[in-house]
Amino acid sequence: MTSLPLTNKPFPEKSITVGNMDLSIVVPVYNENESLPHLMEAIDKTLEPQNLRFEVIFVDDGSTDGSFNELKKLKEQFGKKIKAYRFSRNFGKSAALSAGIQEADGQVIITMDADLQDDPVAIPEMVAKINEGWDVVSGWKKIRHDPLSKTLPSKVWNRITAITSGVKIHDFNCGFKAYRSQAAKSIHIYGERHRYLPALAYWEGFSVTEIVVPHHPRKFGKSKYGFGRMFNGIMDMITLLFLKRYLKSPLHFFGLLGLVLILIGMGVMGHFTIQWAITGMMRVRPLMILALGSMIVGVQIISIGLIGEMITHSQQTHSYTIRDRMD
Ligand code: UDP
Ligand code: MG
Repeated sequence: MTSLPLTNKPFPEKSITVGNMDLSIVVPVYNENESLPHLMEAIDKTLEPQNLRFEVIFVDDGSTDGSFNELKKLKEQFGKKIKAYRFSRNFGKSAALSAGIQEADGQVIITMDADLQDDPVAIPEMVAKINEGWDVVSGWKKIRHDPLSKTLPSKVWNRITAITSGVKIHDFNCGFKAYRSQAAKSIHIYGERHRYLPALAYWEGFSVTEIVVPHHPRKFGKSKYGFGRMFNGIMDMITLLFLKRYLKSPLHFFGLLGLVLILIGMGVMGHFTIQWAITGMMRVRPLMILALGSMIVGVQIISIGLIGEMITHSQQTHSYTIRDRMD
């Protein structure tokens, strides 16, 4: 397995003081009842000899196939090694990850899919990378066992995301990742933003690297995502790029756009006014209507920016993220 050092250099020290566990493994579960016992067994088999204090946090995202009953059985069998939560309905993978991370006590948090496509054997190597000082270690399914209809669009999408986000990794959407607790807990994951976690962490100033992880074909159940994810993914990218630059000051974006439109409108109208003053003739021209429209739209866009500013102001969002703390 190889690893690629990226930008945002890792901090050399291991000053992690969060939680009383070494490792929390967060697993989002949506109709995966057959896979669950195999997964838990595989995780236990890998981690037990490692002499690590670990917990596996299952978040049942509104399954309807009895996944939670399966988790109850596993809880009886594995006791304290398992925490399980169940959503009232299907809220999506991002929500499940977010809830699991919230409940995690580990100094290192691993996320992995429940469908046995991710192999827990890679966990020790991921943890080793975190101990080297990296904040986020992303899995790369270099050899992938999924249909071409999924791998090809994914390749294109990954390239675009790498270029636009500045994070040079190959596999953003890989569910298999490791985080220093502080990094995972300071990213807000909602909607379908789980695909952009490495970018979100990187933008917060955390260091991101990747390692190649093994990938298996799905044995049980079926994939929860179809073609629709491409569209949603693109929309999310636009949102994120916008939020990254303009969350703190929406008017910087809308203000400029609105101002440009107003200036164009005023320029054209000024031209006609001067013409009228010189020749004394005035006719309604198509360009005049365009200029008028431009000015009206410009004012509206600036107003939208101002409303954005009001929302930002009333939300009082943090303008910083703390990486380490010593209280
Ligand atoms: N998942 C979830 N909620 C959803 C959809 C999926 O918790 O609404 C979980 C699912 O159970 C699995 C992981 O997210 O553990 C990845 O889903 P899937 O394997 O269907 O995605 P793919 O591997 O096809 O990208
Ligand atoms: Mg899968």
